[in-house]
Amino acid sequence: MHEVDMTKALIQTLQDWWQAQPDMPEIRAVHLTIGQFTCVEPASLQFAFAAQTQDTELAGVALRIHETSLIAYCHSCQQEYRPAIGQQYACPTCHAPLDDIRSGRELKIDHIEYRQPASVARESSRPVSPS
Ligand SMILES: [Zn+2]
Repeated sequence: MHEVDMTKALIQTLQDWWQAQPDMPEIRAVHLTIGQFTCVEPASLQFAFAAQTQDTELAGVALRIHETSLIAYCHSCQQEYRPAIGQQYACPTCHAPLDDIRSGRELKIDHIEYRQPASVARESSRPVSPS
């Protein structure tokens, strides 16, 4: 998937999440898991995200990207192996073609770091009532 489309989808997801929150939390960072096999360049994604979130409520939000390796499973040999991306998509032992990818195609938001300034402010400004 191209980084620009990927970024648009990510921003849309974050905005939907943000608007669904009752107290408009301040998003600090977004943790993403991106598989190597998606061919998304973390640096390109960071750049596209920063460019597309300028002057929005998501400006300045950090992307923390965790990459996962491509791991495949060979049913004949009953073992996992790591195909070399762009070079070899077959089992190194029996040369069966790659057909079962166990990891490396992920593209997901792990979690969102945020704080709720509104509730913090309310908490600290609450008058102490004498008992
Ligand atoms: Zn095999």
